[in-house]
Amino acid sequence: MDIPSLQLNDQTSIPQFGLGVWQVPADETQRVVTDALELGYRHIDTAQMYGNEAGVGAALASAGLARDEVYVTTKLNNGFHEPALAKKSLARSLELLGLDQVDLFLIHWPLPTRYDGDYVSTWEALVELRAEGLTRSIGVSNFQTEHLDRIVSATGVVPAVNQIEVHPYFANEGVREATRRHGALVEAWSPLGQGGGELTDETVVRIAGTHGKTPAQVLLRWQIDRGDVVFPKSMSRERLAENAAIFDFALSTAEVALLAALDRGAAGRQGPDPDLFD
Ligand code: NAD
Repeated sequence: MDIPSLQLNDQTSIPQFGLGVWQVPADETQRVVTDALELGYRHIDTAQMYGNEAGVGAALASAGLARDEVYVTTKLNNGFHEPALAKKSLARSLELLGLDQVDLFLIHWPLPTRYDGDYVSTWEALVELRAEGLTRSIGVSNFQTEHLDRIVSATGVVPAVNQIEVHPYFANEGVREATRRHGALVEAWSPLGQGGGELTDETVVRIAGTHGKTPAQVLLRWQIDRGDVVFPKSMSRERLAENAAIFDFALSTAEVALLAALDRGAAGRQGPDPDLFD
């Protein structure tokens, strides 16, 4: 599998395509991640909140790949925004993953109404964790424009990525633009709309038919072409293979425009609004 790599603002690089393991049960994670690695996936997106870091670690340990061949992201759980807890939690993640260092550690949610909304001190803790070598890169997730502006103006440190909800029904253009303006990459979570309506949307189905591809492949190709990082989730080996087979076709300008026109704004969200989520 020939997966493109994208350059991050800290001079490291990240595979543009990978596997997300949200809602993969702990006792099935090793099997799913092992399948993905066998199929050529080289980027795994997990989180403390997902409760399956140990399964990811077991799959990595048995895969026999060199450490620098697999890109591993985890995310800070919402209860751990206080800097000492953030640090302790990454130590625990590393233990569960069986690694000395993750490639990317993210603040999972800004939580503007919890921990006094002080995600700046949390961000400073991540800057220190990077300096200590426990993570190669640091970033954020679900940060709205004002959250990004605030951490950058307070610390001068730009996150490597902002991992946000993006799929055709919720293109999230404002936050995408703000993320890119800061020089960070967008990671598009729920690129398949969590298996919802986009997969049966008549425009998507029609475009898929034109290319002899599936709706899932069209959604992923669209996001790859926009320059975002994606890591669709699936537990089936067939779908893992299907989701990765997106590098052998191209969407036309007209098709890209049709997909862009599916945006429903806030009504298209699948997940919580980061301004309200705590
Ligand atoms: P997704 O958009 O990847 O959709 C996954 C669902 O789509 C699967 O459960 C399955 O039902 C279906 N599916 C997968 N492949 C398919 C195929 N080829 N054909 C038809 N249906 C298919 O949803 P997701 O898991 O929410 O998002 C992907 C990853 O993004 C997560 O696993 C996680 O790593 C990350 N994520 C992050 C956050 C965050 O707050 N940072 C939130 C949600 C997800």
